[in-house]
Amino acid sequence: MSAPAALIVTLGCPKNKVDSENLENLLHKQGIQTVSSVKDASFVIINTCGFIESAKQESINEILSLTAEKAGNKKILVFGCLAERYKDELMAEIPEIDAIWGVGKDEEIVRYFKETLTKEQLTAEKPRNISRLPYAYLKAAEGCNRKCSFCVIPSIRGGFRSFPIEEIVQKAKVQIEAGKRELIFVAQDLTSYGADTGSSLSDLIRKVAALSGDFWIRLLYLYPASINDELIACVRDEEKVLKYFDIPFQHSEGRILKAMGRSGDSGQHLKLIGKIRSEIPDAVFRTTFIVGHPGETHRDFSALMSFVNEAQFCHVGVFSYSDEEGTRSFNMAKKVSEKTMKKRIDDIMMLQAKISYEKNLKLIGGTYPALIDEAGEGILIGRLQRHAPEIDGNVIIELHGDEKVDTDTLSNFINVTIIDASEYDLTGKIHD
Ligand code: SF4
Repeated sequence: MSAPAALIVTLGCPKNKVDSENLENLLHKQGIQTVSSVKDASFVIINTCGFIESAKQESINEILSLTAEKAGNKKILVFGCLAERYKDELMAEIPEIDAIWGVGKDEEIVRYFKETLTKEQLTAEKPRNISRLPYAYLKAAEGCNRKCSFCVIPSIRGGFRSFPIEEIVQKAKVQIEAGKRELIFVAQDLTSYGADTGSSLSDLIRKVAALSGDFWIRLLYLYPASINDELIACVRDEEKVLKYFDIPFQHSEGRILKAMGRSGDSGQHLKLIGKIRSEIPDAVFRTTFIVGHPGETHRDFSALMSFVNEAQFCHVGVFSYSDEEGTRSFNMAKKVSEKTMKKRIDDIMMLQAKISYEKNLKLIGGTYPALIDEAGEGILIGRLQRHAPEIDGNVIIELHGDEKVDTDTLSNFINVTIIDASEYDLTGKIHD
């Protein structure tokens, strides 16, 4: 009989991915093998997301679909943000769940395995599934001290705390030695890194950039009001840091941002973007917006559209406001209908598609380094500096005649000349 193995299913953002990887490492240290298919798993562990309505629904659907496949002694275990918020409700509504934990409960989960399995099952020598992808997420901090009125994260994840700089540098070193070519720093509020420990995000970046090896550093989730001159200079000067600014502005109108518990307005946002562009002309900008926050009028929304047009982002993500119990926005009047929110999302995405397409067209004829994630039939799939994995599209590289894919090409950098473009992806060929 084969030894018990666990499948970890991760929903939500890259921060959850890091939590799942940490749990996988801990389980592996206990001799629990992880597998990639439900049929091979004795334990299915679901790391849930409870950030907004659509994410909650996705997590619930995943739990339901996995419990429907439950057979024999297979155990269904649930943890993460949704479980933190709705532990009792989930246990009551889905009795097939065998155990449930909130966030930061790795030790309890490991204890569950120790108590459930025999000593022989726990100490067996087993291989670990290691991702072949050439990028790795590194979580720099946990929690958030901001007070965005629509957001449940601080109540789920707690206050902001930075992880020790040496610990992150060590993790980065391990990933580089394992062959990762892109290290992606994530946190709920990355720009606050070090504020509680007398350090700073720039310190962290410089220390990791000083490690030897051929790799990129990408920063995700930069809170706009905390992007200072030091950080801009650090991104500008450190060669290994991608000139990629992921700044979740959430809105452009001061009135709405104030209701959201955030600061700034379109003028300040444009000033920040202009400053970064003047220091780093090839900077790539991604942002996210929430449409339909209580009180958002048609006038606010058309001002947001004008801002999107003026700012000329490379990538934009838009979410509809999600009315979450326990937040301040939940109690605000003048809620916007689902229908209006959907129309607003469509309008922004249509405008942004045009902007992204025009930007992509300008890349045709240029040659850029690409990091190759995968190989397909006659093609390679890679990403340029402007493409964060899983959210921003790819460059599809067509292979011709004698062009061969060897192990050096996969998970590595090659120079690619862009030959075609759509609003989302680029097409390229290997540069001669
Ligand atoms: S910065 Fe605002 S939106 Fe982001 S996690 Fe903190 S409170 Fe939530």
